[in-house]
Amino acid sequence: MSKEKHFKKERTLIMIKPDGVQRSLVGEIISRYEKIGLKMIAMKMMIPTEKQVEEHYTLDPEWRRVTGEKTIKGYKAKGMNPPSEDPFEITDKILAGLKKYMTSGPMVLMILEGAHAAAIGRKISGGTEPLTSDVGTIRGDYVLDSYQMSDVDGRAVRNLLHASGSAEEAEMEIKHWFDAKEILSYRLVQEQIIYDVNLDGILE
Ligand code: GDP
Ligand code: MG
Repeated sequence: MSKEKHFKKERTLIMIKPDGVQRSLVGEIISRYEKIGLKMIAMKMMIPTEKQVEEHYTLDPEWRRVTGEKTIKGYKAKGMNPPSEDPFEITDKILAGLKKYMTSGPMVLMILEGAHAAAIGRKISGGTEPLTSDVGTIRGDYVLDSYQMSDVDGRAVRNLLHASGSAEEAEMEIKHWFDAKEILSYRLVQEQIIYDVNLDGILE
């Protein structure tokens, strides 16, 4: 093993949003991440404040601009007129909806650790908009919302989950939501099978 952190130490933040809790999908969602071999190293249930939600989305100082521009492009690709040409105005609206959505009830937050945790977490979660999330992903299988419907109704898209976009994003988000003392360091017996190079601990 090199001096660099081993692949298996990558972490991601998963948040089951209030609709996931209300729809009794917590166990089902956790089991998807659990079965692929990611290790849960922290978990808690909480009702966040609006401030915590806003800070979460703006940890990346580019998020407002990038998300606004992406959303404008999305409207145009569908032949629709965006509600504004100003990306920041668009994200202000998105952020207001997210604050209302994510403070509406308890959420379940967890830190998962394992090889490629962020990319694997995103893959299992599925794309951000449930309408187009792949079948077999959590969002693709358990929720039917769309940007179009949520925009008409003036609310955030209900997509059950947050999953960090990258390992770097995860580290910022983990610091934002968890105290270091809430994160556990332990070995999971299955790591012997998932990561052991020689698989020489099986036979008697
Ligand atoms: P995530 O990393 O998968 O959560 O996606 P982003 O960081 O790009 O977006 C965060 C949140 O912004 C999403 O969960 C949506 O609520 C909202 N959002 C992103 N893109 C769009 C869009 O094109 N239209 C609308 N209405 N909301 C969006
Ligand atoms: Mg994101």
